[in-house]
Amino acid sequence: MTMSVRFAPSPTGRFHLGNLRTAWISHEAARVLGMPWALRFEDIDRPRVVDGALEAQLDDMAALGLVPDAWTLQSRRSSRHFTLFEAARGQGRIYPCLCSRAEVQQALRGIASAPHGAEAIYSGHCRNVGPQEFTRALAAWRGTSIAWRFRADDATGRDDFIVARSDVPAGALRAEGPLVTPGTFVPAYTWACAIDDRDGGHAMLVRAWDLHGALAQQQAVWSWLEASGCLDPAIAEAPRPAVFHTALVTADDGARLEKRTRGVTWPELCGRGWSAREVLQRFAAMFDVAQLQGFTSARVWGEPAASLSLKQLGFSTLQM
Ligand SMILES: [Zn+2]
Repeated sequence: MTMSVRFAPSPTGRFHLGNLRTAWISHEAARVLGMPWALRFEDIDRPRVVDGALEAQLDDMAALGLVPDAWTLQSRRSSRHFTLFEAARGQGRIYPCLCSRAEVQQALRGIASAPHGAEAIYSGHCRNVGPQEFTRALAAWRGTSIAWRFRADDATGRDDFIVARSDVPAGALRAEGPLVTPGTFVPAYTWACAIDDRDGGHAMLVRAWDLHGALAQQQAVWSWLEASGCLDPAIAEAPRPAVFHTALVTADDGARLEKRTRGVTWPELCGRGWSAREVLQRFAAMFDVAQLQGFTSARVWGEPAASLSLKQLGFSTLQM
């Protein structure tokens, strides 16, 4: 098995400088570790995928000399995401939640100690609902999308997070059809990403600091996967990937760069006379490649700064 360094862009638009910089850092990591550079395009959030974005991202990276050794589409792995979902469900690690967003919020108000920003925390309501009670709840339910929650280790259910939804056509449940099928199954980012990252034989994942918050859930899925017997034996024996986080790139006023931010894509830079060499020189001047040599299996670390402005990176006056 060849271990690789992976970068996982979403084909939702043209790359901005922050995306390009993370791509470059992951490419540097592959170079430093002497491993293939593997890309996985996260294209399962269909409404957000933009036609042609994948090709444009590959082109822009290639213009900077960043050419992947292999790339794949996350959507090609949907049967694997569903198979594992059914396995975890069969083992009692995943349960259906019929709570509406409003019900979750209301239940939380009753929890005195619910911390600030509690929207990510669940009341735990559906965690211990028995089959009969569930059948009654389902009969009275008027929703259109069942949330499927992963049982976290916390006994209160507060950390039980959504790993998938199944979109239910109106009336389908009245006919006692299955609650979820491959056709109605929509995996959450955490589920698909955790599975692909562990299955992929990656030594190291590179992503921006904004995804650090998803790590605890990702690790919970990894723990289940490793104990489930569902991993390829060679992968199961390999250590978990290390995770390196890159700084978020912001405009000089601190606003986060987004794919719609103007003036910060490669074609725009090019149009204003920047060469690939100049861009890479700026990247290299503000990134200490030696920190990647701190790589050890399963290590979670990253750049000291969680964010860097265009000015700090030597790209001031870029925005139009
Ligand atoms: Zn619920």
